[in-house]
Amino acid sequence: MERIYLDNAATTPLSACVVEAMRPYMQAGVEAPFGNANSVHSVGREAFSALEDARARTARAIGASRPDEVVFTSGATEADNAALLGMALGQRERLRLKGRAGGHVVMSRVEHDAVLHCASALKRLGFEVSFADNDSSGRVSPESLAAAMREDTVLVSVMAVNNEVGTVMDTASLARVAHERGALFHVDAVQALGKIAFDVGALGVDAASFSAHKVGGPKGVGVLYLKTRTPFEPFLVGGGQERGLRSGTQNVAGIVGCAAAIEHAVREQAAFADRARCWRDGLYERLRVIPSVHPVVDVACGDESFAPHIVSVCVRGMESQTTILQLDMRGICISGGSACSSGSLEPSHVLSALGVARNLAQGLVRVSFGEYTEQAHIDAFLSAFEEVTA
Ligand code: PLP
Repeated sequence: MERIYLDNAATTPLSACVVEAMRPYMQAGVEAPFGNANSVHSVGREAFSALEDARARTARAIGASRPDEVVFTSGATEADNAALLGMALGQRERLRLKGRAGGHVVMSRVEHDAVLHCASALKRLGFEVSFADNDSSGRVSPESLAAAMREDTVLVSVMAVNNEVGTVMDTASLARVAHERGALFHVDAVQALGKIAFDVGALGVDAASFSAHKVGGPKGVGVLYLKTRTPFEPFLVGGGQERGLRSGTQNVAGIVGCAAAIEHAVREQAAFADRARCWRDGLYERLRVIPSVHPVVDVACGDESFAPHIVSVCVRGMESQTTILQLDMRGICISGGSACSSGSLEPSHVLSALGVARNLAQGLVRVSFGEYTEQAHIDAFLSAFEEVTA
């Protein structure tokens, strides 16, 4: 049975260029480039030069103005945690030195858990957290962000593309609203990179999180973009690597793969988006006529206010897990919203924020496309889906 993988928002297969870039690092023995990038000797310097090359290439691809604005992390969860806690604490310290208080953070209700769960950590640190209202697509308008902000708001975090339903936010306008009111702006750009045009410089954000494994790179590597002079207290402390912003010996092999993946995803973005948008529109059209299917968001043909790679619908009277397992038995991999909460029978917090009824939300299924997707995979999914939901 051919394996059909349509869960690319959860993770992606490695891109061929990533495997090539990482191959030298996967060799055994002392002749391989295995060094600690912080060692003084030649083996260390060789690793350091690979690390700095990866940093410069990543910075260019995401639109950073300097390589040292790129901090390599263990993934987007770490980048999100570091951004939320590190920037909030950095801001508090900056304001304390000026004799002012600043203890308020704003985020959206549709954030990935990696951001959302920082709310309780922030509260334990003495910050107050508010949530900006969203519309029925999960979109936060500049006006609703402005309404959620206060005099003492130090940080705003709103994702660029929602991972469950594909809503694209107006990141540039949201960042502008945050800045006009004196706060910093962080964006979780995990599902935006390689899917929509995304340039941290043009968007004017202070910080952004990326994950290699969502764009054909290895798991366990990510990037925190941190604009020069952004107030930040390091989240991981220790040996002072990454200019003291993220301690821990760098995963050079993973970072080389991460840079190759990000460069490749950005280079291919426009072509991929055109392809994926056709698949998305065609799939929604065919799903809408199935009586038990309820589309979660209203995506028009060619609609660029939704990501091209995500299709989300609820199946009435059938729990996500059942649909997923029935399709899996037919060789097709999809998910029920976020991969992190796939084991949970609780309806997704994103659908609750969109106002979708609990019984309907329990039937959420998400199909997501990637580099290796073909029209034939979508056709196979559709005929299997029609069979299991009949
Ligand atoms: N943010 C978003 C929007 C995601 O989709 C994910 C992955 O599911 C993450 C953060 C977490 O990324 P990572 O798996 O690299 O920790």
